Amino acid sequence: KGPDPAIGLIKERLIDVKHKILVLSGKGGVGKSTVTALLSRALAHGKNDRNVAVLDADICGPSQPKVLGVADEQVHQSGSGWSPVSVDDNLSLMSIGFLLSSPDDAVIWRGPKKNGMIRQFLSEVDWGSLDYLLVDTPPGTSDEHLSAATYLSQAGVTGAIIVTTPQEVALLDVRKEIDFCRKVNVRILGVIENMSIFVCPCCERMSEIFPATTGGARQMCKEMDVPYLGNLPLDPKLARLCDEGRDIITEMPSSLVVQALNGIVKDL
Ligand code: ADP
Repeated sequence: KGPDPAIGLIKERLIDVKHKILVLSGKGGVGKSTVTALLSRALAHGKNDRNVAVLDADICGPSQPKVLGVADEQVHQSGSGWSPVSVDDNLSLMSIGFLLSSPDDAVIWRGPKKNGMIRQFLSEVDWGSLDYLLVDTPPGTSDEHLSAATYLSQAGVTGAIIVTTPQEVALLDVRKEIDFCRKVNVRILGVIENMSIFVCPCCERMSEIFPATTGGARQMCKEMDVPYLGNLPLDPKLARLCDEGRDIITEMPSSLVVQALNGIVKDL
């Protein structure tokens, strides 16, 4: 088999994309999609002249259109390819969610078809000139990850961010993600620990949700020699605003979560 002809196209499409970042998680439900959306918002807010886009490659559970508040929009095709949907002046999104006839439609595809979709997203979307492209992947290390990592590597991937919760079982799976990244030669930018503490909305007291594993993610990062990027609290208001597709960076700017996000994106 000769080289994949899509690779040349992908390189061309991503030539003006400075940072290409994969967002991974070992388990589902740890908040990977939420964290991807929040990082994109924080990056876009940081500087107005910074262009950010998200590729929702979570083929079987695309949730970015809802979290980024553009679920009713549609992608358009022009002479230069598909145009991502605009979330804000300097933030855009491409997701398979836009191509489904109803948000409840299930995508039941086998590996090759999923790979084909990711290849198409990377080679046929008019990404334009971007500072950051964040790629939200499904949980685990399956076909989609391999194809996303392989294609992005060819186009010069910056690295991967791994999202986890503090539980032991989630941390075990993070080790697998780290191993995956090392096998496919994708640099690990670091681990974000999500839902590590709970801030009571009534009395603002902070509680550890999984006290037995407090500090576990930081310790694991040390052992595995990867950067620990920070932790985000579990915040019921954040969950509600995200469900409504609202922008938490402008709506709760002094919250712990937004402060933590700003700290994380400063170093990206
Ligand atoms: P994943 O992509 O890992 O499957 P999601 O991002 O879909 O997980 O998050 C699962 C649920 O947890 C969503 O309802 C989301 O709003 C909620 N969630 C994620 N992170 C937080 C957080 N820090 N505080 C409150 N709720 C959160």
